[in-house]
Amino acid sequence: MPGKWDWLKDEIGFSNLLTGGRMILRVISGKLSADDLTKCALCPNMCRHACPVSIVEGRETTSPAGKARVAFMIREGRLELNTENLEPLYMCLSCDICSLYCPFEFSVADLIRPVKEDAVRKGVIFEEFRGVFENLERYGDVYGAKKEEKDGRGEILYIRGCTIRNELPELGEKTLDLLRKLGFEVFTIDESCCGIPAYNLGNIELFKKLAAENAERINRSGAEIVVTSCPSCAYAYRVLYPGHGIRIRPRVFHIAEFLKDKVGGMKGGTYRVTYHNPCRLALGLGQKELLKDLLSGIEGIELRAPGKELFCCGHGGSAVSRLNPELAEEIAEERRKQLMEGADTAITACPSCKLALGGDGLKVLDIAEFLWLLTGEGYEPEVKN
Ligand code: SF4
Ligand code: SF4
Repeated sequence: MPGKWDWLKDEIGFSNLLTGGRMILRVISGKLSADDLTKCALCPNMCRHACPVSIVEGRETTSPAGKARVAFMIREGRLELNTENLEPLYMCLSCDICSLYCPFEFSVADLIRPVKEDAVRKGVIFEEFRGVFENLERYGDVYGAKKEEKDGRGEILYIRGCTIRNELPELGEKTLDLLRKLGFEVFTIDESCCGIPAYNLGNIELFKKLAAENAERINRSGAEIVVTSCPSCAYAYRVLYPGHGIRIRPRVFHIAEFLKDKVGGMKGGTYRVTYHNPCRLALGLGQKELLKDLLSGIEGIELRAPGKELFCCGHGGSAVSRLNPELAEEIAEERRKQLMEGADTAITACPSCKLALGGDGLKVLDIAEFLWLLTGEGYEPEVKN
């Protein structure tokens, strides 16, 4: 009778020498060679206790190692490459939280990406993604909004990103106003989407096209510094573009990084707030402490820890919110509950997190918006009991 690990034993070629359990231990301890996807597929999968999808959905197939196993089977041709089999792979928020708990520091999002890229190359694409690709292809905007192709020149270029341009234009205005109040001369352009949605969904050619367009326009602007509101844009410019041979000449900062040393002594009323760390800022850009440190430096703030330090807002990764919006909303609700344990106002540093988490009982402010309020009129501070 075939054993449950036979397919993996065959893969590694030690089926006659080792039992499944011993083999798994040897692979995990690095004594047996196997590629990263195979290692992850064999792993006891303890990181599922940190994965927001697993915590909320509780389905083995969409747990981190579950995804790796399905990806492995597809890659090896033991499962057909079709949307039904690909579905678990796309139930990933690209949050990288699994990497914190993984002995190999793997992010499952990275391990399974080649299988998604292969699917897109072969035309195996979810209907829900076709509109996204078309919007990015035609307009360079994930929402499909036509841009003005405005070019600017100057020293500090502020990049708003698709979500602010389309959903939260007032946040963009406040951020610009804050930067100017702090004494910076800033300009904007109508940049293309950074390409992260295409990257997350496996359309690597489209991602590279958008990256090249952005690099050309940004480099042409003569800017010395680029500041973004969106952690995904900063991550794309700083990490992904160079990784694909595309260089942005100016130094790139997320707005929280840029403002870190500029808020000392800032004060306003008395505030009790918690914070929500965006995954791409905390893990992608390696800034896990930044938001907390920045807020701690402001006089009058009583900072409450969120229920969990890191937990995706449910709308990362570009796929879950399109294929399974109910699940995205359940994850957002779980995060909301965690945040509301600490305060009824949460500060974040990502426009998508602000959109996903704001709602009944929880006011969510972007860090730039919060600092803008501290430096201006009109904020009703939360009064401490
Ligand atoms: S990401 Fe790491 S800990 Fe999680 S299942 Fe894969 S190998 Fe195991
Ligand atoms: S990247 Fe996030 S959602 Fe995807 S498997 Fe890892 S923890 Fe889960």
